[in-house]
This record gives sequence, C-alpha cells and structure tokens, in this order.
Amino acid sequence: MSRRELILQELGLWPVWVPRSRAGAAPDGTLPSGTPAEGTRGATLDAAPEALLEGAPGSRAERIARMDWPALKEAVRTCTACPLHAGRKQAVFGVGDERADWLFVGEGPGAEEDARGEPFVGQAGRLLDNMLAAIGLQRGRDVYIGNILKCRPPGNRVPEPSEAAACEPFLLRQIALSKPRLIVALGKTAASNLLGTDASIGSLRGRLHDLRGTPVLVTYHPAYLLRNLADKSKAWEDLCLARETMQRLKAPAPAPR
Ligand code: URA
Repeated sequence: MSRRELILQELGLWPVWVPRSRAGAAPDGTLPSGTPAEGTRGATLDAAPEALLEGAPGSRAERIARMDWPALKEAVRTCTACPLHAGRKQAVFGVGDERADWLFVGEGPGAEEDARGEPFVGQAGRLLDNMLAAIGLQRGRDVYIGNILKCRPPGNRVPEPSEAAACEPFLLRQIALSKPRLIVALGKTAASNLLGTDASIGSLRGRLHDLRGTPVLVTYHPAYLLRNLADKSKAWEDLCLARETMQRLKAPAPAPR
C-alpha cells in the first residue's frame, strides 16, 4: 500500500472512496472565501431580542459573557440576533464534553445538523469522526465540537460577517466555560473568525496561534477534504501536530531548580 493510501486509510477514506457530488454545493461544500470585514470582529449587536437577555445590564456580548451553560444554551436556542434565525429548524449549540481539552470549531450547521440539532452529523461529520479517531479521540470524550454559526445559512452559503459577529459572543462564552487546552479551527471560516485574519489555510496551518490565551491550530475543513484528496496528507500532518501539541500542553511543568 502506498503512503498516500496509508494516510487515506488512517482517515477512514480507503479503500472506499465516494466522491462527493458538487451539485448544490452544500455547507460542507462551500468552504469560506468570505471573512469578516475590518472591524467587525468582536462587534456586538445590542438589539438582543432574546427574552432571556432582557433586563440584564451591559451590552449583549457582556451579558452573554456572564452566562452559565444552561443560560447560554437557552440564549442560543432562542436567539434572534441575526436574520438566520428565521430559516432554522433549530439552533445547533455544540456537542461533547463541556470540560474537554479539545475544541474543534467548524463553520456552521448544514441541512442534517439543522434537522438533528448536532454539529457535524452529515458526510463531513463522518470524516471529522474518522479524523478524531486517527489521533485517538472520540466525539464526546474529551472533545467538544462547535461552530462559528449556530444557525444554518440559507443554501449553506458562507456566513456573512454580520452573522458571524452576532454569533461570536456565544462561541467565546463556550470557550471561556469549557477552557479547552487546544482549539482546532476547521477551515477558512473558523480560522478567519477565530483569529481575525483573512490569511489562507495553507499559510496558517503548521504553527500555533492564540485566541485570548488559548492555543489554536488550523487545518482543512472535512468537507473540503472530501473534495480535495491531495490535501488529506496535509490534514494528517496537522492532526499529528495537534496530538503532539496536546501532549506538550498536558506535560507537567518542569520542577523549579
Ligand atoms: N460543516 C460545519 O462546518 N459544521 C457543521 O456542523 C457541519 C458541517
């Protein structure tokens, strides 16, 4: 078996390879070319209609930043801060171990996620599960999975900067509550919004970034990998780097001399 085939096998993509149809390029399909406009990161939409937030002091982002898990889940469930709420079946909060060392962040729910209320349950999700398994991880066990957007964009298009900005306080609060040791950004939308950069995945992968003190690694989105066989070996390198990074992060600090 060739090295390439071995890598594909590790990712659960060999020997059965089913090319994804590009027709109707799904959420999974369209990986982000859009990024937040200058100055939109961290923006708050203060006209928060969520009943839950009424009466609480401070901006919407400040109020979200004080929520515990149940309040945050309820705020996401009832959120109407951007127009995407109108088209959703349900908001997709996130899934997994709420004190996990690992946080994987994708773009936003697709049709299956919108229907089931869980991130990454479609074809891209199956590849993500294989990617996790390749480095000894399992959905829900020391891993939390979330998205930049909690509501499905129509036609699974790339999130508008205003939509990402409206959702940002939710993800920031999820990160603050779960305190992951390492965040893995899956694809351009996740990387752009978490790191506030328009740089390509190719230029961001392979090194550690920082989000408010939490290390961040960047790799390709599983949906992109389903269409771009050639980059799967790079994703495997990224996963190996992530595993090594986690080992280092968990290693006890050397005793002072
Ligand atoms: N793609 C994503 O980025 N997130 C999901 O939850 C599903 C597909």
